[in-house]
Amino acid sequence: MEWNLLDECKDAKRIGISGHIRPDGDCVCACLSMCMYLRKCLPKAQVKVFLEKPADIFRELKGFDEIDSEFGDEEPFDVFFVMDCGADRIGDAEKYFRDAKKKINIDHHVTNKGCEGLNHIVPDVGATCELIYDMIDPGMLDRDLAMALYVGIIHDTGIFQYSNTTPATMERGAKLISYGFDFPRLIQETFYQKSYIQSNIMGRALLESIRFMDGRCVVSCVDRKTMQFYDAEPDDLDGIVNQLRNIRGVDCAIFMYQTGVLEYKVSLRTSESVDAAEVASFFGGGGHARAAGCTMRGTFHDCVNNLSLHIEKQLRNS
Ligand code: AMP
Ligand code: MN
Ligand code: MN
Repeated sequence: MEWNLLDECKDAKRIGISGHIRPDGDCVCACLSMCMYLRKCLPKAQVKVFLEKPADIFRELKGFDEIDSEFGDEEPFDVFFVMDCGADRIGDAEKYFRDAKKKINIDHHVTNKGCEGLNHIVPDVGATCELIYDMIDPGMLDRDLAMALYVGIIHDTGIFQYSNTTPATMERGAKLISYGFDFPRLIQETFYQKSYIQSNIMGRALLESIRFMDGRCVVSCVDRKTMQFYDAEPDDLDGIVNQLRNIRGVDCAIFMYQTGVLEYKVSLRTSESVDAAEVASFFGGGGHARAAGCTMRGTFHDCVNNLSLHIEKQLRNS
C-alpha cells in the first residue's frame, strides 16, 4: 500500500465514513470498525458514520446507534471514507464525498475502477473488513473492533465457505476470535436466523422459482404487492438468492425484487461457469465473480430475457 491510514488522517478534525446503499454485513462492519479504530487512535477527531438504515441484526456492534441515516447538511469533512464500493454507490452520502478535502476509497470489488483521491482496492480479498484488518495497528485491536471485523468477514465469505476464502482469511478469523466474543451466537443471529415473515417469503420465492437452460439457471422474483402483503423490507429478502444457488445442477441463480414500476434489483450467484460480475456490469451493476448485482428496467420477462442472453453465452463457452 502506497499510503498510510493514520498519516493521512492525523491532522483531520472531522472524518466521515460511508458505504454502499442497502448496506450488507461487510459494509456496515467496515464502516463501524474504521470508525472505532480512528476514534481510538485519533481521540481529538470527530468521526461519523453515514449509512442507509442497516438491518437490526447488527445492533450489538459498537457505534451502531450513532449511525446517521438522515444525511443532513454537514460542514465539509477533512477526510471522507468510502467503504466496500465506489463513490457512485453511496446514495445520499455522495455530497459529503464530493465536498471532502481528502477522499479515501477502500474496497474489494473487481468492478470498482477507483475514484478521485486515495484508493485501496484489492479484488482478490474476501471482504473489505479483511483489508481493514491488514491496515490497522494490531496493538489497537480490542474485543469490539475484533467482533466487527469478524462479522464483516463472515458475511462476505458465507462463514468462510465461498471461494473468496483464502488461508489468510482463516488466519485473520483465527486471530479475531481470540478476543473472546461469542462467535457461534453471532453467526447464528446475524447470518442464519430468519424471522417468521422472512422464512415465509423465502419459502414463497423458492416455491415460485422457475428453472431454465436445462436447469442450469433458476430465477425467482418478489413483486411489490407480495412485499406489501408480508410487510417486507429489502433486508428481509437476504439469503434467498443463496438458497436458490443451493439447488443441485444450478450454475446461475437469479433473484429479483421490485423496486419501482418496471424496475427490479437483481442479485446473481454463480458457479465457476458464469462470471456474475461481467453479467451485472453489462447492466450497469457490478460485484464479484461469484456474486454480483444490478438494477434493471422493464418487465420481469424483459429482465430475464436480457440476462439469459449473457448467461447463456458464458455457459456455452464453459
Ligand atoms: P447482492 O446481490 O446485492 O447481495 O450483491 C452481490 C455483490 O455484488 C455484493 O458484493 C454487492 O456489493 C455487489 N453489487 C450488488 N449490486 C451492485 C451494483 N449495482 N453495482 C456494483 N456492485 C454491486
Ligand atoms: Mn457489500
Ligand atoms: Mn464486501
